[in-house]
Amino acid sequence: MRIGVLGGGQLGRMLALAGIPYGHEFVFLEPGGEAVRGLGELIAASADDRGALERLTEGTDVVTYEFENVPVSAARVTASRVPLHPPAEALHYAQDRVNEKTFFRELGIPTARFVPVELRGDLDKAAGSLGLPAMLKTRRFGYDGKGQRVLRVPADLGAAWAHLAGTPLVLEAFVPFTRELSILGVRDRDGATAFYPLVENVHRDGILRRSVAPAPGLTPALQALAETHMQRVFERLRYVGVLAIELFQVGDELVANEMAPRVHNSGHWTIDGAATSQFENHVRAITGWPLGPTTVTGAVGMVNLIGRIPDPNAVLAVPNARLHLYGKEPKPGRKVGHVTVVAESHDALARPLAALERLAQG
Ligand code: AMP
Repeated sequence: MRIGVLGGGQLGRMLALAGIPYGHEFVFLEPGGEAVRGLGELIAASADDRGALERLTEGTDVVTYEFENVPVSAARVTASRVPLHPPAEALHYAQDRVNEKTFFRELGIPTARFVPVELRGDLDKAAGSLGLPAMLKTRRFGYDGKGQRVLRVPADLGAAWAHLAGTPLVLEAFVPFTRELSILGVRDRDGATAFYPLVENVHRDGILRRSVAPAPGLTPALQALAETHMQRVFERLRYVGVLAIELFQVGDELVANEMAPRVHNSGHWTIDGAATSQFENHVRAITGWPLGPTTVTGAVGMVNLIGRIPDPNAVLAVPNARLHLYGKEPKPGRKVGHVTVVAESHDALARPLAALERLAQG
């Protein structure tokens, strides 16, 4: 089949690397496209270019997206011409933190308390009702920690406002989490679902640095709770493809932070550590093929390479390490690759994972 992808970064690259063995062809709509060079046809344009969207859908069997800031209108235009998975409606919720949290709450999925903020006076009122600490975030276009400020004391309000004002904001109560987790799952066109085990994630400066799967100490009850939450999202949206939900663990509870209606960085470990990767399962789901097993083959660690590429000799000298580079020029804060390592147990994982983290930091 010919698969169209809105976007062409590393996620598009890894989707193609998973889909090409099935004989699929890829066409990407992406202004840059260095990460997908050689993996399919490239339409070098952005998703708001109507003519480019038409070219993307011509002769294409199915379209998907690999970044969630695709304009919903562009997704709808696409969906009027060819099947689009996941649905455009998922973008509508994922693109706006207030829509997203409202959606979660309607489905009975807990979130941080939040108050939309438009005016300076709203911020004072919101901080008064939620208390401090709190997180002030842009409602839209925030990613990798951009567009947000922590408010610890009342004096922080002015500086945070000066930094973020000019676009709709939301104030969120600070969640005193034990740790950060994510759940990844996939739903096919007939409604069958599969879930990967909860992943433990560590962020620094708002950017994912490390994931461990299954999350250490994961209980069946916590896994079941996360799957129940995701199943509600799946059913409400009649979702097709891979979905990720980022969660805060607070004791035995899970608080949803945000969802990504696409393959997700906290699932990159599945390439080397699961029977079927998130990328392969996404491709299977959107093309109407049966889902593959999500069984994990050990304790798996993933470290992001951000802003620099370590010496491949040193990385590959770590037993069982796998290096994935995205073909992107290193720049500060840019994700240029990741490394995974699979071990027999979480205890056995600790040492190689620490070695890889040291190499990633340089
Ligand atoms: P986000 O852009 O919403 O994914 O936030 C980036 C990171 O900021 C998260 O991974 C958390 O580490 C932290 N964070 C975001 N929102 C909250 C919150 N309401 N309470 C506590 N920490 C948060």
